[in-house]
Amino acid sequence: MSLHRSASLNAERRTAEMARLAGGEGVDVVVIGGGITGAGVALDAASRGLRTVLVERRDLANGTSRWSSKLAHGGLRYLRQGEVGVAWESARERHILMTRTAPHLVTALPFVAPLDGAMSRSYGALAEAGIRVGDVMRAVSGTRRRVLPPPRRISRHEVMRLLPGVRVDDLRGGILFWDGQIEDDARLVIAIARTAAAHGAMVLTYCEAVSVRRGAVTIRDVIGGQSFDVSAAHIVNAAGVWSDELAPAVRLTPSKGSHIIVSAATLGNPRAAMTVPIAGESARWVGAVPSHEGTVIVGVTDDQYTGPIVDAPTVTREEEQYLLGALSVALATPLTSDDVIGSYAGFRPLLAGRTGSTADLSRRHAIVTDAETGMVTVVGGKLTTYRRMAQDTLDRVLGKVKSRSRTAQLPLVGAAPADVLRGLRGPSRLVRRYGIEAPAVAALAAGDLSLLEPIADGVPVLGVELVFGLRHEGAMNLDDLLDRRTRLGLIPKQRRAAEHAAADLIGAVAA
Ligand SMILES: Cc1cc2nc3c(=O)[nH]c(=O)nc-3n(C[C@H](O)[C@H](O)[C@H](O)COP(=O)(O)OP(=O)(O)OC[C@H]3O[C@@H](n4cnc5c(N)ncnc54)[C@H](O)[C@@H]3O)c2cc1C
Repeated sequence: MSLHRSASLNAERRTAEMARLAGGEGVDVVVIGGGITGAGVALDAASRGLRTVLVERRDLANGTSRWSSKLAHGGLRYLRQGEVGVAWESARERHILMTRTAPHLVTALPFVAPLDGAMSRSYGALAEAGIRVGDVMRAVSGTRRRVLPPPRRISRHEVMRLLPGVRVDDLRGGILFWDGQIEDDARLVIAIARTAAAHGAMVLTYCEAVSVRRGAVTIRDVIGGQSFDVSAAHIVNAAGVWSDELAPAVRLTPSKGSHIIVSAATLGNPRAAMTVPIAGESARWVGAVPSHEGTVIVGVTDDQYTGPIVDAPTVTREEEQYLLGALSVALATPLTSDDVIGSYAGFRPLLAGRTGSTADLSRRHAIVTDAETGMVTVVGGKLTTYRRMAQDTLDRVLGKVKSRSRTAQLPLVGAAPADVLRGLRGPSRLVRRYGIEAPAVAALAAGDLSLLEPIADGVPVLGVELVFGLRHEGAMNLDDLLDRRTRLGLIPKQRRAAEHAAADLIGAVAA
């Protein structure tokens, strides 16, 4: 059974590692922030052989990293904005994710851009040209056609087959193209953090970096309450939209992106994502992306944001109406608020200092060294490029010290080639979400078949997923299980249905 024991995160390991640090053990690198960026940096550092600690003040993937559109972009959007370098980096990193590091969590998703009255012939030709340049990048980055097929024009009939909810009166046909879909952004972060742990990193959640000075970080155990200093040769700040709290010289211009969730049945159970240009806005599109959970995620807005930065921002009524309206242009039956079963929003950590709307700001990452503390802040970028961000950060941190990043060749826990995953037995949901570890997750039922059943009516999550979350994925409480190890929290009705059973299960595991 393919379970990385050394990758297991749980309350016992956390207590033991916290005690080692409180006892004065020093490390090579302290990484602040347990989103995708911090987890990636911890993995890069630990796999180079550095003694590494990751501190996260709440749970892994508590911030922006769980609020994404869950796509491993090849960078089409950046091509439209003329940012060829960013697009190339995205295509390269998508290739690594889909073929080496996370083929269990990142898979091919077909997209259809319907060619209808809302898309003039010239705009359609322009969109197709961009998609074809994106395909050249796919080929040059080494991604084979069997991993991501090339784009092609499709007939009106084929559009209707893939997108049954599409408006047909002025439909001429469509453009079919492919990109990467992330099964679950939070699970990707957790897989990276566990892989870092397997390389010896201490991954400490509910542990806040309170202050930083040259060579040391003061941390606070949010559960135990004690604070102490950890001495570290290098400190990396990967606190996303909160980066400026510890590095006031870093100036951020966050933008807010919102999504709404509808049942797939409402759109006739689409077999492809749909992408529609937003009328009157250059290079902005709305997407409707089907998930494996029987839902479709509609997004994304992208607007400059100046309000308070909270962990779980909400979608305003205006944002919901904007998304419903933008997508409905291409639908036979317009969506209404009654169709919305969930919604979520997140803040993009963008660096200040550039002009234009936030939709046009560069998505490349920045690495900034603080002159006083020596702390290195890495900010910006995206989920897709986390590995490259981490590599660049460690290269900067280590300077002239000769050391090479190994992460491009390092499969994350759960990773296995697609044909191996196809051959695994057991619930397909587990294979999709846990990859090669799925049999080990299923085995936690240990003869109790009820643990292989959904934990409540109308909820897709199986009991063993919660047990695995507590024993091996560092979940400390109910919220960690419902909002990040599983994503029941995205649909309030499902979360409410599961709360009781999940609380009972936590009690049973503790006993
Ligand atoms: C709406 C939206 C959609 C997106 N869609 C995509 C997409 O489809 N594909 C893609 O590739 N990218 C996407 N992105 C971009 C991507 O999600 C972000 O770039 C990425 O998640 C940022 O990760 P991060 O680790 O830097 O920040 P975060 O995930 O916010 O992590 C920072 C962490 O630091 C912790 N922290 C803060 N202060 C402290 C402290 N003092 N001590 C300890 N911990 C601390 C926080 O609790 C948080 O968990 C999207 C972004 C948004 C907003």
